[in-house]
Amino acid sequence: MLQTDLALSRQSWYAEGVTRPPVHPPLQGEVRAEVAVVGGGLAGLSAALELAQRGRSVVVLEGHQLGWAASGRNGGQALPGLACDMAEIEAQLGLGDARRVWAMTVEALTLIHARRDRHRIACDWQSGALTVAVNARKTRALRAWVDRMAEVYDYRQQWLDKAALPLHIRSPRFDSGVYDRRSGHLHPLKYTLGLANAVWQNGVRMHESSRVTALERHRSVTLLRTAQGQVMADQVLLAGNVHLPGIAGLPASPGARIMPVGTYVAVTEPLQPERMDALLPTRAAVCDNNFSLDYFRPTADQRLLYGGKVSYSTVTPPNLAARMRSHVARTFPSLAHTPITHAWGGFVDITMNRAPEFLRLPADGAASAPIYLLQGFSGHGLALTGLAGKLVAEAICGDAGRFDVFSRLRHRPFPGGERLRTPSLVLGMLWYRLRDLL
Ligand SMILES: Cc1cc2nc3c(=O)[nH]c(=O)nc-3n(C[C@H](O)[C@H](O)[C@H](O)COP(=O)(O)OP(=O)(O)OC[C@H]3O[C@@H](n4cnc5c(N)ncnc54)[C@H](O)[C@@H]3O)c2cc1C
Repeated sequence: MLQTDLALSRQSWYAEGVTRPPVHPPLQGEVRAEVAVVGGGLAGLSAALELAQRGRSVVVLEGHQLGWAASGRNGGQALPGLACDMAEIEAQLGLGDARRVWAMTVEALTLIHARRDRHRIACDWQSGALTVAVNARKTRALRAWVDRMAEVYDYRQQWLDKAALPLHIRSPRFDSGVYDRRSGHLHPLKYTLGLANAVWQNGVRMHESSRVTALERHRSVTLLRTAQGQVMADQVLLAGNVHLPGIAGLPASPGARIMPVGTYVAVTEPLQPERMDALLPTRAAVCDNNFSLDYFRPTADQRLLYGGKVSYSTVTPPNLAARMRSHVARTFPSLAHTPITHAWGGFVDITMNRAPEFLRLPADGAASAPIYLLQGFSGHGLALTGLAGKLVAEAICGDAGRFDVFSRLRHRPFPGGERLRTPSLVLGMLWYRLRDLL
């Protein structure tokens, strides 16, 4: 298991503001299901919902609480696209399939709205997101990106030069920006728990505090063991993010192709609405186009929620709140003395090329029951995990066409393997940070 839980033991601001539904009891004894889902984050819950709606019997096993990890503690920015540039996808799949991938990432946004409306999930949705550039060189890169997305992917966004930026953001730090009205932001824990409620209402058995410790592939079923029970399933989805490795018998060592990176978020105390008007008048979400990026947004109760610090060693930085405050002040000097009330972190699962990994493990000797894996969202999974779960459900129900567009993406293990990958990654990141600074 990942030795990381300092950050995760911190209560997020999100967790304080929600009433959790009654606990789903741990798995006891033996259960039979058509599909077992490991992981009660957005990827696992989304697949469970789609499968139940297609009439499958499903069990969800969650090692902690539903929404405990990244899905319930993230920055809340719902954006299209992937963590990597589309050039990576074009190089691997060709332009035709890269266009299909992009269209599916836009569909992932629509899916959030459809689920929010259908299942009446009150999750504080606010439309509008900006990508901003911090200097002239980053402006040129942003302009090239926005023009190419319009020409090649028919995805049009509004260009904002420095003079137009104050329409959406009033900060001395930025040189230009792009406004996307289809993107937006939400309260991720409210959304995740709302989705979990929809899953439960569709008849799915869910078990919290039910960490899967071992997996055995038999001729036509897979057996998943927890401390007090076991599930026999025809098909399995592994959607455990960085917390998955450690399951005995896990085939194909998925952990070697992702790297856990700690990333941190803080909120200020609530601001007067006029004060927020002077920072983010349209209440849009914002992120910059640096490699090691800052992202922020207002919350429904007018706090500034700011994300930006990462830890490649996975150790939570000391004085986290003070460090986050320095990020806030760099962007909005008027908030230099505004109290930070909460600071917390979580872990993202980055891949070498920052593209997500959708995998169907093939038959293994006598074992013929497929196992699906979703991982590697690389910090850009709030919207895409929802679609990923839907694609797994489509594949399990006989139509793997869309899943297989993604599953053709190839991923390399991190150099040094699971033990030595951190030093090589840290060196690589230092190089990119240096490029941002220069
Ligand atoms: C601080 C932070 C900020 C972020 N901000 C954004 C953002 O603004 N926009 C965006 O698009 N993305 C963002 N992300 C990324 C996004 O949150 C993730 O990509 C997404 O939530 C991943 O969902 P998931 O279901 O794959 O994993 P998770 O939400 O991590 O869920 C995995 C679950 O599996 C469970 N599990 C693991 N192993 C086992 C096991 N053996 N047995 C049982 N259960 C198991 C875990 O307990 C966990 O609950 C952010 C992430 C973090 C951490």
